[in-house]
Amino acid sequence: MWKIILLMGAPGAGKGTQARLLQERLNLPQISTGDIFRALRDARTPLADEVRAMMEAGQLVSDDLTIRVVRERTGRDDCKHGYILDGFPRTPAQAAMLEKLAVEQGKRIQAILLDVPRELLEKRMTGRRNCPVCGEIYNIYFRPAKIDNVCDLHPGTQLNHRADDNPETVQARLATYEEQTHPLLEYYQASNILRVVEGAREPEAIYRDIEDMITSER
Ligand code: AMP
Repeated sequence: MWKIILLMGAPGAGKGTQARLLQERLNLPQISTGDIFRALRDARTPLADEVRAMMEAGQLVSDDLTIRVVRERTGRDDCKHGYILDGFPRTPAQAAMLEKLAVEQGKRIQAILLDVPRELLEKRMTGRRNCPVCGEIYNIYFRPAKIDNVCDLHPGTQLNHRADDNPETVQARLATYEEQTHPLLEYYQASNILRVVEGAREPEAIYRDIEDMITSER
């Protein structure tokens, strides 16, 4: 049966990095609700203001809108044979919707938690930079670009620093995670579909564990 792979974990846990590797190497589409909302925020639509306000405050976009975008995106053809969700679900209502969606789509959910200590999360976020062209993720502390603030893969392209990766918003995002998303882990644990990966390691080592989990339980 085809799978929906959930990459769970606090902001800064490395979900985006791992989702990109999985997409490249296992050829599964990666759906990041954060990326979808960043695109919505930057578009000139009435929704942009609502999305921007929530993101800037480190709070969650409404369940209603989030559920609509996930339903639409996962209904596309490229998701037929399974997909990776990065940053969804984040609330009980989203988890309940996903359960229904999995049944409708005839897919099985597999949840993987990237477990990272809090001190590291903060540095991962405040040090994070990414290429606006290819999305490659760097970190000024842990994975600096070869030339300061320029993408290794796109010479001449300056790296971005996410507006919500400033120290103040980072604290708000971590609090939101603790309150609204962390409780979901118990739910997935109780359903026996949660596996935990030690996330305070090199991306390649983490990737190997995740790939093993996915391919050994196909
Ligand atoms: P991320 O890139 O996953 O850290 O998401 C960035 C921001 O997008 C979050 O701080 C939220 O404001 C919003 N967001 C992303 N995913 C969700 C979701 N599943 N539910 C509600 N808001 C979300």
